[in-house]
Amino acid sequence: MSTVTEQQVVEALSEIKVPDTGKSVLELGLIQGLQVKEGHVGFSLEVDPSQGEAMEPVRKSCEDIVYDLPGVLSVTAVLTAHSNEASAPEAQQTAPQGGGGASDMEIPGVKSVIAVASGKGGVGKSTVSVNLALGLAATGLKVGLMDADVYGPSLPRMMGIGGTPHSPDGKYMMPLSNYGVEVISMGFLVPEDTPMIWRGPMVMSALEQLMRDVKWGDLDVLVCDLPPGTGDAQLTMAQRVPLTGAVVVSTPQDVALADARKGIAMFDKVNVPTLGIIENMSYFVCPHCGDRTDIFGHGGAKDEATRQNIDFLGEIPIDPYLRETSDTGTPLTAKEPDHAISKAFIEIAKKVAVKIEEANANSAAAAPKIVIS
Ligand code: ADP
Repeated sequence: MSTVTEQQVVEALSEIKVPDTGKSVLELGLIQGLQVKEGHVGFSLEVDPSQGEAMEPVRKSCEDIVYDLPGVLSVTAVLTAHSNEASAPEAQQTAPQGGGGASDMEIPGVKSVIAVASGKGGVGKSTVSVNLALGLAATGLKVGLMDADVYGPSLPRMMGIGGTPHSPDGKYMMPLSNYGVEVISMGFLVPEDTPMIWRGPMVMSALEQLMRDVKWGDLDVLVCDLPPGTGDAQLTMAQRVPLTGAVVVSTPQDVALADARKGIAMFDKVNVPTLGIIENMSYFVCPHCGDRTDIFGHGGAKDEATRQNIDFLGEIPIDPYLRETSDTGTPLTAKEPDHAISKAFIEIAKKVAVKIEEANANSAAAAPKIVIS
């Protein structure tokens, strides 16, 4: 089968008119960042933020018409706000609402959303997200897990889930589930071996779509695995998603802690409470002799939590078994809930559950509203 060319995509898109303007998306210069590679097509529609909702049908039409071209295997069309990218997070800052965050997005049926964040990659943020979600489920809560780490979505592999989410009505996606936790990940929508180049606004738009288009059903808590770092994408995400609070994962090293500090400062800036810090790769117990080694030093995150007046939620050792179970899709907390590390995650989850209740109570007190249940 011949693959589609950029020219064919452009021609198809020239057919799509924007209502009330009589002009096509191309004439209006809305199509940006077009990429056509071996049948995979990606582009964004840059629109006025106030028109986001109204432009969704246009985005869908663009996606559909390109998808119908011969040789097209996948299409990713995302809406991006064409406001000044650098100042966008500031510009969008509004009064706190919901769980304290400045979000303008509602997630129906979801009582609380927490972010798992890290100042840098590789500290075990996804490992902690997965096992924390399973720990929360073990305490009897209904839990969802969202992989917002669009750069390297690892939750499908860690949760042992493959396949594509169903969309019974062609509008909403149903999450996939395993080990009693509902999961959605960009990794379900694009093949793992598809290299993706995401510009900041595209990340935001893709995440917003992921937030908006998933039918979670009733959840007590949605655990959101944020992309690593504290750049604009994370900041905007922290503002757009109705976060109850954030959990920061750090290793004990100074350098990682400096990054964690930035994470906490970022959440502060957008009025999202940091529920606490988890120290990952805290120490190593030799499986042969039982001796304990503090590979990255130990207790750094705890000291930092004290300094910042933030709760320390617990520590997770370096353990090859934790890596093995994560990387093979049988997460330890689900596979062996009685394992010492699983117990540590369940204890952390219990603390997080209490902190969520507190954060919700605080925000309810700050913004009294009538709840009909
Ligand atoms: P991040 O999401 O911060 O990039 P990951 O959770 O993907 O980090 O972890 C990176 C790698 O380190 C993975 O292979 C994971 O299995 C491993 N890992 C994470 N935490 C631990 C730990 N406490 N002990 C051993 N391996 C770990």
